[in-house]
Amino acid sequence: MIPVMRPWFGPQEQAAAGEVIASGWVAQGPKVAEFERAFAEHVGAAHGVAASSCTTALHLALVLGGLGPGDEVIVPSLSFIATANVVRYVGATPVFADIDPATGNLTAKTVEAARSPRTRAVIVVHQGGVPADVDEIRAAHGELLLVEDAACAAGSTYKGRPVGADAPMAAWSFHPRKLLTTGEGGMLTTGNAEWAARARRLREHAMSVSAADRHSSGSSAPEEYTEVGFNYRMTDMQAAVGLVQLGKLPAMVERRRALAARYQEMLAGVPGLVTVRDPGYGEGNYQSFWVALPEDFPMSRGDLLTFLAGRGVSARRGIMAAHLEPAYASDGPYDLPATEWLTANSLILPLFHQMTEEEQDTVVAALHAAAGL
Ligand SMILES: *Cc1c(COP(=O)(O)O)cnc(C)c1O
Repeated sequence: MIPVMRPWFGPQEQAAAGEVIASGWVAQGPKVAEFERAFAEHVGAAHGVAASSCTTALHLALVLGGLGPGDEVIVPSLSFIATANVVRYVGATPVFADIDPATGNLTAKTVEAARSPRTRAVIVVHQGGVPADVDEIRAAHGELLLVEDAACAAGSTYKGRPVGADAPMAAWSFHPRKLLTTGEGGMLTTGNAEWAARARRLREHAMSVSAADRHSSGSSAPEEYTEVGFNYRMTDMQAAVGLVQLGKLPAMVERRRALAARYQEMLAGVPGLVTVRDPGYGEGNYQSFWVALPEDFPMSRGDLLTFLAGRGVSARRGIMAAHLEPAYASDGPYDLPATEWLTANSLILPLFHQMTEEEQDTVVAALHAAAGL
């Protein structure tokens, strides 16, 4: 089977993780600090705070933003469900907004339609690595806290700079379904030094002195617990792998963009098929290469996924819509036509660093056969 995604690992990642194990210090320590600095520098953000996942980094962002019961946070329904769940973690209410079907992302207009006097924040997702137009949203909704869910977007650019470079807060994922992976892992980047310092404490039980600092200083002074914190730490083994992966990120983006361009060209002959593309203002990393089927496609999406599997191609349904899941369905009704169209009619095709052109030809041939070409 040709997989949808496969991480690009080599002997360097193995050696890096092995060195950490040999050192005897495997929990959050010097490697995490080094990875935080390197990743923040890559993004162009002043501070990076590693976390156990993007989900936990987003949770920290909402705690830092002071969000809680009675507050509404606008999120796209078209996202992995964690984007909505983190709003519930702080006791606030997620309110789903629709998306631009061309990008899969929120716009100033769709946010406007979801606003109420209780709206305090927006989580803007760079879905599938396609940069969202955050300047447009900020210009129209400057009073709201704008948190960027950049889970998929390491290596994507917005107006010539890395996505998230100017974000008050952006959260990143290093899950294997994304480009840069540490197995599990995440990061919060921010330009705000106070938020960064508090996030560092919160992710480590809100200890006044981190375990790594206490160890390296040899101090026996007791730490204080300044508030109720969490255990959202990354390990040094993960960070060591992350440092190697970060060095490979530019090559990953280049390869994915080349394969995506090849898909776009070869699939152009399928009548009515829509393929994900760069928006005018930025370049995506093609974390997910989705296509949307026209209404008159000869097969349903479900039948197409089965047909592709029969030809050795493991495709996936398109990006989910949280408001259609049992966990959120009773919150509605919601009027999200673009979200419902895209989630129902799209599928994600295989795209990974080491994918060969022959494998890609197999995917395209299977889609052409399904289309009756
Ligand atoms: C993957 C993903 C997440 C969750 O990331 P984890 O690191 O697995 O917690 C959140 N938001 C979006 C948009 C994602 O794609």
